[in-house]
Amino acid sequence: MKVTRIAYSVRLNPGKYAAMVEQARRLGRVRSEVWQRYGSINGVGSGLRDRQARDRWLADGTHVQFAVLANAWKETVRDAMADIAANLAAAKVDVRRAIRRRTNDPAERKRMFTALKADQWAADPFLSRQMRKHWRRGRNHTHDQIVVRADKYKTAVDWRGRLWLAIPGLEPRKVVRIPLSTTVAPTGTLRLILRGGRVEVHYQIDAAQMRSSQRPCGEATIGVDKGYTEALTDSDGQPHGGGLGVLLSSESDRLKERNRRRAKLRSIANTATLRGDDAKAHRIKANNLGTIKRDRQAARHRARVRTEIFAAVHEVVDKAGTVIAEDLTKRFAARRTLGKNMSRRLAAWTKGVTAEALKSVSERRGSALVHVNAAYTSQVCHRCGRFGRRSGDRLHCTSCGVVWQADVNAAINILHRAGDPDIALHTPHRKVKQILQDRTDRHRTRLPVQDSSPGSTGWRANYPNCSAEQHVGSRSQLHQSRPSCGTASA
Ligand SMILES: [Zn+2]
Repeated sequence: MKVTRIAYSVRLNPGKYAAMVEQARRLGRVRSEVWQRYGSINGVGSGLRDRQARDRWLADGTHVQFAVLANAWKETVRDAMADIAANLAAAKVDVRRAIRRRTNDPAERKRMFTALKADQWAADPFLSRQMRKHWRRGRNHTHDQIVVRADKYKTAVDWRGRLWLAIPGLEPRKVVRIPLSTTVAPTGTLRLILRGGRVEVHYQIDAAQMRSSQRPCGEATIGVDKGYTEALTDSDGQPHGGGLGVLLSSESDRLKERNRRRAKLRSIANTATLRGDDAKAHRIKANNLGTIKRDRQAARHRARVRTEIFAAVHEVVDKAGTVIAEDLTKRFAARRTLGKNMSRRLAAWTKGVTAEALKSVSERRGSALVHVNAAYTSQVCHRCGRFGRRSGDRLHCTSCGVVWQADVNAAINILHRAGDPDIALHTPHRKVKQILQDRTDRHRTRLPVQDSSPGSTGWRANYPNCSAEQHVGSRSQLHQSRPSCGTASA
């Protein structure tokens, strides 16, 4: 597995930065051209590889208009083609789903899958319609990146011990030297991202070859649930990354307030333009509505959240040799409905970070990560398997008469899902619900005394161990080992 590392420039000379911004701007035009030509159905129809695209551009003189060095635009073409390929692959996931819905005939399915894979959908009306539907025409939005191939840059350490990165500039043999904040030289292909007067040098290293001072993982098997106030809650009842909730809600409040003020300033600027006071409008836009500080603050917040989440996952892996978790990489359909609600948007983003942290920490420290189907794990009682009533961070099970801490209950359910004979990772939601209901129904009908003792506590009379006295809302109850009242799956 590859891990991305980022080195940052320190005290970069503004002249150098401006030169790099210009180079990135010109390379952005290269990207736009690639998207324009090859980022659509027609482009893929011609089945062009990046090398062929490069040869064609060289032959017909397309490259001259960009006024950048040959290697710079060639690497950019390769990078943009890779972006398009990723975009296309994402669309194909939806189309494959549509194929499965359309037909159950294995031969027909296979024919369509094969055509899709070979990019030969144009002849098939259904496939081409689906591709047009799911693969919306993309556009390049990247105008601040420079990709540098491994053999095109050099690193050197100066007499003060500072590391310098030398990359090609706009003219042949004119290099741009960038002082870096790190002492570890970047390797492989570099992606330079220009942000707020600073250069971020992104590069990838092999996780296996990383300097491994990593602690080994633990031995237990632990289920985890992703929460909002804390990053993770494990099936032992322990929360991890408890600072996450505060971090997210304070950032959400800050953004809401700031966006409100920016909107006000923008309306003042617009009014000034209408009155003909362009100087004032310009002053406000230049001095009060800039993006440098905003982007820097956003990056800092992202870094803090990542640190919190990674620390939480490390804590879990300290105990666990096997981590059972929901597959958080699943795309969720409701993304567009998140809208302007800042806190929900932030929370949605942390889901991806948690998925990444679980994967990368597990691989680095040698623990196993098992994904399970998490449908209804936050809604059923882990002890009796019945649907409970959720209110806030509590889950009230009326048949056990217990109030569980919702995240802990979910983590235990997730742990149990790993050994569940009926519910597989991709079992559909509705079927999971049916299975869960069947289990409790079967349980109920098998009990002989239920009807004969009206007014009694019903089935609970048969299970003296399963007492109903509970400390409502107490988290500690989950640490006590309690005899199980037997889930209905027996
Ligand atoms: Zn229960």
